[in-house]
Amino acid sequence: MIPFVREITFDYGRCDTVSPLIRRVIARNPGPFTYTGTGTYIVGHGTVAVIDPGPDLPEHLDALLEALKGETVSHILVTHHHLDHSPLARPLADATGATILGRAAPAEADSAPSGNDQEEGADGRFRPDIELTDGQTVSGPGWTLEAVTTPGHTSNHVCFALPEENALFCGDHIMGWSTTVITPPDGDMGDYFASLAKVRARNFATLWPTHGAPIREVGPFIDAYVAHRRGREAQILDALATGHTRIRPMVTDLYAAVDPRLHPAAAHSVLAHMLHLVAEGRVTADGPAGLETEYRLA
Ligand SMILES: [Zn+2]
Repeated sequence: MIPFVREITFDYGRCDTVSPLIRRVIARNPGPFTYTGTGTYIVGHGTVAVIDPGPDLPEHLDALLEALKGETVSHILVTHHHLDHSPLARPLADATGATILGRAAPAEADSAPSGNDQEEGADGRFRPDIELTDGQTVSGPGWTLEAVTTPGHTSNHVCFALPEENALFCGDHIMGWSTTVITPPDGDMGDYFASLAKVRARNFATLWPTHGAPIREVGPFIDAYVAHRRGREAQILDALATGHTRIRPMVTDLYAAVDPRLHPAAAHSVLAHMLHLVAEGRVTADGPAGLETEYRLA
């Protein structure tokens, strides 16, 4: 069982100090993929960085500018190009003069933003001022942020380490309240497992997901997260062994306990596992692997 952390005390638009270097303002965009809403983090004092400005909500921009009054925003850091993370970056940069750092939306996201039934929806126009590479750092008075590339949830996902607090802003890579949606083709389960191992190896004391409360028991939490995915993989292999060949009926069985609104997302998650299993040679597909393809054990 994943030791989910779901308790969070907040008010929309209020700026809460959550650690010596970190403040958080939560946007009013609650939903099945965003939990209580997007948590925008402010790092440092005086000259600060902002992580995941959030959705393009005027109320949230006002709340951030109020929280940042009298301070200089030097950097805006974006974990990935989903609509609940990146769209407010440009308006906030225009208002503060800050530089936007992150990794650009993949090309296919431009023309075909994802449907809201599958994931948060894509901000295909997202282009940072500076394209980050793994290990790149930016800093201000008393704080440093290091880009830790973590493809999986999206191909351009990047987390930000704060060495002064041995903490990691982990975006949607790891969430305390829920598992993460992996939607192919941009989402990739093989990459995701590798990115979980990458973060696990760093022994962070605290993870700050963009949605929900911080994760303090980091090692055991990630181990349980990985075990959950391996368990799901085993269930899929079982389902194939007992005669299931198609993803949708499999989802109805495997996700019986899950909110039906999330079943389309779950189908994409099973597809993500299937693509990974096909890539590993453990499963065969009767054509290009997709939601309608028939699958069998190799
Ligand atoms: Zn996302």
